[in-house]
Amino acid sequence: MVSEEIERVAVLGSGTMGHGIAEVVAIAGYDVTIHDVDADALADAIDNIESSLEKLEESDSIDVSPAQALEAIGTTSVLEEAVVDSDLVVEAAPERLSLKQEIFSDLDDLAPNGTILATNTSSLSISEIASATERPGDVVGMHFFNPPVKMELVEVVRGDATRDETVEASMSFVESIEKTPIEVRKDVRGFVVNSILEPFIDEPAWMVSEGIATVREADAAMVHRRGYPMGPFELSDLTGIDVNYHIRTEANIPVPPIMERKVEQGTLGRKSGEGYYEYDSGPGADYESDDCEGFDTLRVEARMVNEAAKLVGNDVATVEDIDIGSRLGTNFPEGPCRRGDEIGLDTVLEKLRTLSRETDAPRYEPAPHLERLVDAGNTGVDAGSGFYEYDDVEATDGDQYATDGGSEYRTINYTVTERGVLEIELDRPDRLNALSIDLKDECLDLLETVDVDQIRCVTIEGAGNRAFCAGADITEFEQKRPVDVMDVSSFHEEIYDFPRPVIAKIDGYCLGGGCELALACDLRIATTDSTFGQPEIRLGLIPGGGATQRLVRLVGETRAKELVYRGNQIDATTAEEWGLVNRAVEPNAFEDTVEAFLADIVEGPPVGLEVAKKVINGGQDVHYEAALLLESQGYGLLKSTEDVAEGTAAFLEDREPEFTGE
Ligand code: NAD
Repeated sequence: MVSEEIERVAVLGSGTMGHGIAEVVAIAGYDVTIHDVDADALADAIDNIESSLEKLEESDSIDVSPAQALEAIGTTSVLEEAVVDSDLVVEAAPERLSLKQEIFSDLDDLAPNGTILATNTSSLSISEIASATERPGDVVGMHFFNPPVKMELVEVVRGDATRDETVEASMSFVESIEKTPIEVRKDVRGFVVNSILEPFIDEPAWMVSEGIATVREADAAMVHRRGYPMGPFELSDLTGIDVNYHIRTEANIPVPPIMERKVEQGTLGRKSGEGYYEYDSGPGADYESDDCEGFDTLRVEARMVNEAAKLVGNDVATVEDIDIGSRLGTNFPEGPCRRGDEIGLDTVLEKLRTLSRETDAPRYEPAPHLERLVDAGNTGVDAGSGFYEYDDVEATDGDQYATDGGSEYRTINYTVTERGVLEIELDRPDRLNALSIDLKDECLDLLETVDVDQIRCVTIEGAGNRAFCAGADITEFEQKRPVDVMDVSSFHEEIYDFPRPVIAKIDGYCLGGGCELALACDLRIATTDSTFGQPEIRLGLIPGGGATQRLVRLVGETRAKELVYRGNQIDATTAEEWGLVNRAVEPNAFEDTVEAFLADIVEGPPVGLEVAKKVINGGQDVHYEAALLLESQGYGLLKSTEDVAEGTAAFLEDREPEFTGE
């Protein structure tokens, strides 16, 4: 959906970032004009956008056709033509302050009053760029990540003079192009994401430079012990060691000797065939899980947590935004605030103090905010509070629940609506809502503590627009004990046994653990954009959470075995034909279909529905005769309820019944 204030967008610079930004903006339905001083670069940009759009269409990732999106994009090598009627300009020219200042000074003359002037700079000061204009209040950082079509995060950065309205309109615009904005409230070097990434890259490089670790040990430990998607040296080789080196030297940050040596030798990473690893004449980043023994990961993570504490303490960003930024911007499994809380902030502080004493290097100096948290006893998860609060949700009454009560949890959101629908949202869109241990614990906690009397029905859906839930969180497999990962049954059984009907609202991937979760619900309604599958066999595993049994019951042995043995995905229409879902409907009919189910259920008799669920579910586990006995007991029990008296009276009086659950 396009933003109300912004209709026409100009993107300046058509290189790696500019063409990608123009593409996502056009996909979202805006008119875009790309400007570049180099006509060949403009032609390349259109070619790149076209082939990227075709790939997105093939993978069913866009709602518009490539032709529609391309039609919305114009190009020009004349700056004035691009910006003269623009509501937003996003500058993505090379990373040189003087060049950007020149461009912004021209914009001051050429862009209409009120146009938002955004820069995609990664490392320059927004305020210094803004100082080249007479309207610094309209200048803002809009830091996309590479490649913009894939990366969901955008940092919206305030310069010293940026107006609130500029930030608000920029945040709404970013949301309208289906990206996640985080607000960076102060113009600090590296903004949020690169501030956290810097110690991840640099501290291992200091340790290798000191001769107390090897490149392989560091990468193996950070990946296999701590769950990061890539080792710090492997990542440096990918980005270019020279890129990291120049950012540090320009900001007067001490450079680890090994980084400097690599730049002097011209072994800059993948692009030069050799960096920390050998690519042309060797196997590349060939570290293995056995290599990680002995590496001090705490030294690296303590610095990352310390950077996060500086950002929070200096009011640069909220705890939540720092963690969202790190997860979406770098694919880290967890943000540094949550990680710090898990490690224990007292442990982190102690480590920093020891390093500070031993080396006298300023980079270990503890952030005052970290010291304050520890002094106040807020040392993390074990203490019940740290960067976050971890106190259990108290069983609350319906009135309290009738508001958005999601703040106690990090991986789910929930609301109880006035008519008693407990709406649960799995909130890990960057991980396609994968079922982490935390997410399952939080759902369990919610279902165990919620006041059931206030609830008529539960819905479960996934955040973002790509997945209901794409499976178990595989990054946890390495870190947790096997028994932690295997213990899936209590989570699924809690949902299966919850005394109210549970509806899975499925839009997007519903795979592996996600499919298992949907199977544990009573009803499943899906958009035709959804796909289903049990791919566990490809990892050498089988489905868990009761899915092997529930699948057989729902779709029959033949189809269950096909899904489990082949590990393939099926589309929603097939899932409906097979009886895996109750309805598969076009996306625009999805909410109405869910509402039709909800309307019947929330008006229905709560006790009757509870007994129906118990009898249908329980009856499947026992012999037929025993199941019939269960049914007749349920029937007998219901006969004595006020709801049945009300239902019968309403029928006779030809009116709608008003069930109370008595
Ligand atoms: P790039 O070199 O790929 O593209 C820059 C483009 O700008 C080129 O096509 C060039 O011809 C054009 N250009 C040069 N002078 C210009 C001018 N005066 N007006 C208009 N266009 C001009 O660079 P990039 O990697 O796309 O980076 C662009 C900006 O985005 C930089 O500020 C960079 O720091 C930032 N950024 C880059 C990445 C990344 O991973 N590449 C990620 C986030 C942010």
